[in-house]
Amino acid sequence: VLPQVYVITPTYRRQEQLADLTRLGYTLKHVPNLLWLLIEDSDSLNPLVADLLKKINVPFVHLNGKVLSILIPNSLSFSNISARIPEEYQKKKGKPRGVSNRNLGLEWIKKNATDGAFYFADDDNTYDPELFEEIRKTVNVSMFPVGVCTPYQVSSPIVRDGKIIGFYDGWKAGRKFPVDMAGFAVGGKFLLSRPNATMSFVMGKEEEDFLRSLDPFEISDIELLASNCTKILVWHTRTQKNAEAPAIDVKYNDTNLVE
Ligand code: UDP
Ligand code: MN
Repeated sequence: VLPQVYVITPTYRRQEQLADLTRLGYTLKHVPNLLWLLIEDSDSLNPLVADLLKKINVPFVHLNGKVLSILIPNSLSFSNISARIPEEYQKKKGKPRGVSNRNLGLEWIKKNATDGAFYFADDDNTYDPELFEEIRKTVNVSMFPVGVCTPYQVSSPIVRDGKIIGFYDGWKAGRKFPVDMAGFAVGGKFLLSRPNATMSFVMGKEEEDFLRSLDPFEISDIELLASNCTKILVWHTRTQKNAEAPAIDVKYNDTNLVE
C-alpha cells in the first residue's frame, strides 16, 4: 500500500477563497491515498467551503477551532484548541498567517496519523500532483525547491554530491533553515517522536521555529526530493486580492438590466 499523504491547508474567508480552494481541490484529486485537512481561521465553518469539499470529493477533514465536519471514519473533538488567530496577533499589522490553523493540523496528525507524511499546503499556491508522490517518500524531514518565491525567484537547498551545502533563498534573516513553508514535508512517525513540534507566532520565523522545534534534527538529516532538488513542483503563487467589499453601491438600477 502507498503511504498516506496528509495535506494541511490553512484557509480563511475572503472573496478569492472558493476560487483558490477549487483549484487546489481538483489538483489534490489526482493524488491517491491523500487526506486533505482543510482548517479554517474562523469561528464557524464556511458552509460554502463544506459544500465545495463534498462536490470535489477528495477525502477530507474540515476543521476549525470548535466545529468538526468529518467525512472519514475518524472523529475527535478539539474543544480546547482554537484555530482562530489569537486576539493579540489579530490587531498587529503584520500578523502570522495560518499559524493557528497549522498547529491544529499538527495536533490532528499527532492524534491520528501512525504512518505516512504531512505537508503544509497554503490554499493559493500552485502544486504539480507529482509533488505529493515525492512527499510520500518522506521518512523524517524532506526538502525540495519552491518556485516564484523570495526575490531570488526560487527557494531551495543547494546540493552537491547528494548533500546540502547551503540554502538559496532571498530572505535568509539569520535562519538555520532558510526555507519556505511549501518547501518541506515531515514523516508521521517522525512527528510522533517529537511531541514538542509546534509552529510559533513570530512573523517570518514560522518555518525556522517549526523546524527547530523538531529537535533533535540537523541539516544532515534532511532527505532530498525532486531529483536532488533539481525540479520545481510547487510555486508560491499569490492570488491577487480583490476589494473586501464593493467600492461602489451595486444596487440594481437601469444600467444593470437588459433593455
Ligand atoms: N491564512 C489564514 N488566515 C489569515 C490569513 C491567511 O488562515 O488571516 C492562510 C491562507 O489561506 C494561506 C496561508 O494562511 O493558506 C498563508 O497566507 P497568505 O497566502 O495570505 O500568505 P502569503 O502567501 O502571502 O505569505
Ligand atoms: Mn499565499
